[in-house]
Amino acid sequence: ASWEREVRRSAAPRRDGALSVLVTGAAGFVGLHCSLALSARGDGVVGLDNFNAYYDPSLKRARQRLLASRGVLVLDGDVNDAALLERLLAAARITHVLHLAAQAGVRHALRAPQAYVAANVAGLVALLEAAARHADPQPALVWASSSSVYGLNDDAPFSEDHRTDRPASLYAATKKAGEAIAHAYNHIYGLSITGLRFFTVYGPWGRPDMAYFSFARSIVAGEPVTLFRAADGAVARRDFTYVDDVVRGCLGALDTAGKSTGSRSGKKRGPAPLRVYNLGNTSPVPVTHMLAILEKLLGRKARKRVVTMPSNGDVPFTHANVSHAARDLGYRPATSLEAGLRHFVDWFVRYYKVDVGGGSADAGKTAKRKSM
Ligand code: NAD
Repeated sequence: ASWEREVRRSAAPRRDGALSVLVTGAAGFVGLHCSLALSARGDGVVGLDNFNAYYDPSLKRARQRLLASRGVLVLDGDVNDAALLERLLAAARITHVLHLAAQAGVRHALRAPQAYVAANVAGLVALLEAAARHADPQPALVWASSSSVYGLNDDAPFSEDHRTDRPASLYAATKKAGEAIAHAYNHIYGLSITGLRFFTVYGPWGRPDMAYFSFARSIVAGEPVTLFRAADGAVARRDFTYVDDVVRGCLGALDTAGKSTGSRSGKKRGPAPLRVYNLGNTSPVPVTHMLAILEKLLGRKARKRVVTMPSNGDVPFTHANVSHAARDLGYRPATSLEAGLRHFVDWFVRYYKVDVGGGSADAGKTAKRKSM
């Protein structure tokens, strides 16, 4: 009973018209930032995360503590636990689900393929089942797909109607499967579902497995940074998107997710929406340029090791067209890579107590690791 009470308290909206949101993967990188932003504007938030060890679980626990300090409860639990989901939805009047729990990362799929199927396919189905069966209210779902669904597409910038039938990794294939599954659940149960194709999201409290984060760690530790080059010498380009921009896109998607077609004006309801949007930055940057910015911010040169790109699921480039998200969600990416990486490095040196030689992380000063 106290569990129910805690869930209800955390999920309770704190102003008129506010949402009551279940955020899965809330102790993850994007989950943290979305949960903070929702809570700050008065929406009720209850989180769910299984705190798996794909990367340092202590970072996930630190995010959980930060959320707890803002009154947001993040429960330990798995999205594949149907009984738990049912109990959660029954305990609080959840109006929206922001489903971010997933097995992320493209290369890890070479080692642990089943983890992708369990989290990204079975997990999504478990959540859709729970949402479909919960009638009062039936929550609208917003979930994270990925730019990786564009796969080997080369007609950039990618729009939502471009080809997604050539995934280059199992990760991409599970996100593409998720989009097909979303179609079926929208069709059968009339669930409102919005898929968001994130493009390489980065920022404070980020994911240690991503290139910008591991580059920063290697620079500080004096270890070599591995750069991949294609056989023709090209380095990968990514449409790096700052996390606060992505958060605004997620909140815009939640705010417009209800099946409100006609219902407010008393007319007959239209069909529940099934939508998909790119959330990118619209300006791809070579990974080597990203590394140069990090070197400048950390005041130290990287030791580079250039190797030929193995066939590991990475794609040569990503580039978003965001005109649909701009039109429907009011989405406007506003953060340059320089500004965004500065925010990341400021957090990174504080979190890991990195000595950057006197306070600020200016160029020319020596970065030294104290503890990591
Ligand atoms: P993340 O790994 O930091 O967050 C995911 C969280 O989900 C983790 O805390 C993990 O413990 C949790 N989780 C995994 N499986 C779970 C399960 N079965 N039950 C409960 N919790 C589970 O990743 P992120 O970067 O915050 O990504 C969030 C979402 O956005 C994911 O769906 C990811 O695939 C997608 N995405 C991210 C990016 C990016 O660049 N960060 C790009 C495209 C798509």
